Amino acid sequence: MILPNGYSSSKFSPLVWSRREFLRSAAACAALPSLPVRAFAAPGGRKVVIVTFGGGARDEETFAPDGQENIPGLMKTLLPQSTFFGQVINRGILGHYVGTTSIATGVYETFNNFSGIAPPHPTLFEYFRKGLRRPSNQAWLISPSSGFRNMGCSTDRGFGTPYGASVILPKLLLSAAAPDRGNMNEFDNLLRETYEEPHLATGTPEAEAELEQLESVLRFSPNDFVGSALSMESADQLSVYVAKRLMTQVAPSLLWITLHDIDVAHSGAYSLYIDGIQRTDQLCIQIWSHIQSNPEYAGKTTMFILPDFGRDSDTNPAGNGFQHHRTGDRASRTSWMIVLGPGIRQNVFIERAIDSIDLVPTVGRLLGFPTPFAQGSVLPEVA
Ligand SMILES: [Zn+2]
Repeated sequence: MILPNGYSSSKFSPLVWSRREFLRSAAACAALPSLPVRAFAAPGGRKVVIVTFGGGARDEETFAPDGQENIPGLMKTLLPQSTFFGQVINRGILGHYVGTTSIATGVYETFNNFSGIAPPHPTLFEYFRKGLRRPSNQAWLISPSSGFRNMGCSTDRGFGTPYGASVILPKLLLSAAAPDRGNMNEFDNLLRETYEEPHLATGTPEAEAELEQLESVLRFSPNDFVGSALSMESADQLSVYVAKRLMTQVAPSLLWITLHDIDVAHSGAYSLYIDGIQRTDQLCIQIWSHIQSNPEYAGKTTMFILPDFGRDSDTNPAGNGFQHHRTGDRASRTSWMIVLGPGIRQNVFIERAIDSIDLVPTVGRLLGFPTPFAQGSVLPEVA
């Protein structure tokens, strides 16, 4: 198969080799023994949590030998319990909105990344709700910015609005809860827009609706929510705080959390990029810990963690290394995925290449609903 920019799949072979090596070293770091796989939960009670890892992260700063120190939580806590896919290829447009939406539809979407439009193909949320006849409070999407607000529901006539995800925009919750805080300087870190904001997204979120969601769904008082936010360093921390609350209050069976802090790399500050990876690592551990401590989730939840894609290599003359994801080179298209939960084999490394659009049909098979328009393949190692 020929990939964009003339990459043939055979050129991935050196990377396969190096990934096998780094996983050997990763296995040596594992603190936990390989535990026996627990029995499957009853299909009706099974839940899925999907976390996209931060908005463009390279191997060099994550699972490659020099990057492993940045992700101690993934390495020592999650990896020994996981099936790890070491070569996840994104063959689509490397923009965060269109790229993340493509993972959610199982189709490499071709719309303008900055449009913020609803995707033309049905999303995982719609397949889930229509296929299993689930109400809207069972499928939730937590998005990093208002430009991502249309990601949870397609324009497909057979699916669409009646089956879309419920969407939470944590930044807008905070803005609505703290309207009298002047120019919000104290929340600059939390409210800064993403570096590739889909600024053309239609529809205007209203503060009234945000407050209603904050109080009726999450059961936060605006003052308490604002008070908690004061101690946070980043937008992703706010997103995970909201996610944990949602899991406690609503316990949706399908939850998608789009983390985005890592994309600060576009500023060119390598240290901020690394900070973002380290923070995301710890946030993933928080999410998994919350799953284990919540009876609605413990023992019946499968968690998927994957970057939307990578970032440019240091050696590609068309790019500027870690800063962007513009070249379409191998480093920018190739990442990884962690899958863990009941019935998932532990401490297993899958080295064959898979596609990032394989997620939707795999979750469909796992939870028992059809995904007829998704173009990826079911991963037999998972479902
Ligand atoms: Zn980016």
